[in-house]
Amino acid sequence: MILDLHTHSTASDGALSPNELIAFAVEHLVDVLAITDHDTTMAYEKINSECWDAMTIVPGIEFSTHWAGRSIHIVGLNIDLSCDALQAGIASQQQARLERAKSIAKKLRCVQIDDPFDAVQALAAGAGIGRPHFAQHLVNIGKVANKQAAFKKYLGTGKLGDIKSCWAPMQTVISWIRAAGGVAILAHPVKYKLTFSKLRLLLAEFVQSGGAAIEVVCGQQAATVTRRLAELAREYDLAVSCGSDFHDPRNAWSRPGRFPEVPASLRKVWDEW
Ligand code: AMP
Ligand code: MN
Ligand code: MN
Ligand code: MN
Repeated sequence: MILDLHTHSTASDGALSPNELIAFAVEHLVDVLAITDHDTTMAYEKINSECWDAMTIVPGIEFSTHWAGRSIHIVGLNIDLSCDALQAGIASQQQARLERAKSIAKKLRCVQIDDPFDAVQALAAGAGIGRPHFAQHLVNIGKVANKQAAFKKYLGTGKLGDIKSCWAPMQTVISWIRAAGGVAILAHPVKYKLTFSKLRLLLAEFVQSGGAAIEVVCGQQAATVTRRLAELAREYDLAVSCGSDFHDPRNAWSRPGRFPEVPASLRKVWDEW
């Protein structure tokens, strides 16, 4: 059985609409799919009945938060989409996203880039504006050769467009997920480029705040990374999750359902569903 519990649609920074994403996941033989857009569950309002029936869909989200000066992502799975506390949290994160987009636009104006806000809002096409939309704009106006370069020069960790103080604290984000009956999962723990001792500090705080699981596999990763994350899952008594973090079919290395296998001995988030 193939479970992909971390993917993105056009409701945030993905390239496929929710229905296209489900169809693409079906093509890739995914049995269970979670659409985990950044700070929104809007995708679930767009899924047609045919797609609901095409496979098992687990309602999910990927919340943004910050810790020790870094953007940290918490995936929530098996959430009740109609939960008031969850939706109020989402509304506040979306407001923060909008304010942040204005701040990023202002910062870019300071480095002689014409006000990008309107163009970026058009690119987001109704979704919450994220840094990938700014990256696409910087490519479109010829400032950089590709989105990767936009992150490296303007938007990535420590660069002028890297604004993260706007997000709700980790404990708050986790409380929204739990209020909705979901499980809070630390997303892609190795993407934060923390030392292992710092990652342990993060995990300790995550657990203390009600976090219950860790993504031991996220997209393509080395077997050594999986082993070390599995050790951390055992050490902190966390369940484990997995996903592709799929965004765009133009990225040839990323496909729904395509990632290394989760070690068999671990407690899986889906065991309890
Ligand atoms: P935001 O939600 O605005 O903080 O943007 C975060 C998103 O930007 C991530 O979920 C990725 O999709 C994307 N991203 C982050 N770092 C990079 C990078 N170095 N290159 C390309 N995309 C990135
Ligand atoms: Mn993303
Ligand atoms: Mn993420
Ligand atoms: Mn993601």
